[in-house]
Amino acid sequence: MGDCCRDAQPFRLCSGLRFLGYIMILLVFAIVAVSYYAVIVVAWGPQLLHGGLLSILAFVIVLLFHLLLVLLLWSYFMVVFHDPGAVPVGWQPASKGTYSALENSVILADHIAIDTRESEFSSTEGSGRRPSIRYCSHCQNNKPPRSHHCSVCQRCVLKMDHHCVWVVNCVGARNYKFFLLFLFYTFLETVLDSLALLPHFIKFFGDARNHSGSPGNLAVTFLSFVLNVAFALSLLCFVVMHTSLVLSNTTTIEVYEKKKAVEWKYDLGKRKNFEQVFGSNKLFWFFPLFSKNDLHDVPALHGLDFPTHSDIEV
Ligand SMILES: [Zn+2]
Ligand SMILES: [Zn+2]
Repeated sequence: MGDCCRDAQPFRLCSGLRFLGYIMILLVFAIVAVSYYAVIVVAWGPQLLHGGLLSILAFVIVLLFHLLLVLLLWSYFMVVFHDPGAVPVGWQPASKGTYSALENSVILADHIAIDTRESEFSSTEGSGRRPSIRYCSHCQNNKPPRSHHCSVCQRCVLKMDHHCVWVVNCVGARNYKFFLLFLFYTFLETVLDSLALLPHFIKFFGDARNHSGSPGNLAVTFLSFVLNVAFALSLLCFVVMHTSLVLSNTTTIEVYEKKKAVEWKYDLGKRKNFEQVFGSNKLFWFFPLFSKNDLHDVPALHGLDFPTHSDIEV
């Protein structure tokens, strides 16, 4: 999605995507409202007062529903409002070992020449060759490793994963964890809703035949069940895909680049790869937050500097 606007009519397409994003926000809230009404107001809320085992089950469902709702909305607002990371004006890489200032200037000059012909996707990263400074001709600024130009946001985004219409924001170095938590909690919530509504969905056909139950409630239960099952199945694919990306320290954009590389230089091992996104403090893994220590100790969370496995071996 990040490269969406390299087509013939970039302006119209990008404006369209941004506009679509606002509709998506309304859609997210509409789905939450319909599910809330079906699961809590119609199906399980009234069971709380009936007593017995059913009340205990209703209490567990109502509690889990609200817990997941708080976590998913918190993660959602964090990914919508948190900047994925912009490239500082005039950014230059910190010199590392043999990567001297003189070499930098030569490589930069070479690379700008290439870049004017090949746009911003002329990186040699992952190919095992000497690193070069990448340059974005749109922003007229250097590009740190793993950053890409987003034509919807009209700027380069640090460790860009993709531009997400559901959150009207780019997903990058500084909000990728929030996006993953939103994905994960929404998946759990849709699974819970599907299971909680399943008995009512089966009963729906009986009620519809006997003309019992309010038609409005039956329609909301039916709609909510179908929506939740559909979202649960599609979110499962994304959860599996992003889990594999996180554990291999790859972004969605880098998948193709990684296939071409003999060895993926950012792969530090599963545990370290996970910590590059979630931080090393276990208490913070489940919340859209970072501890002070992680922000200090994990440079990847800032999006400008990324350790490679050769750094770890040294
Ligand atoms: Zn750019
Ligand atoms: Zn974007």
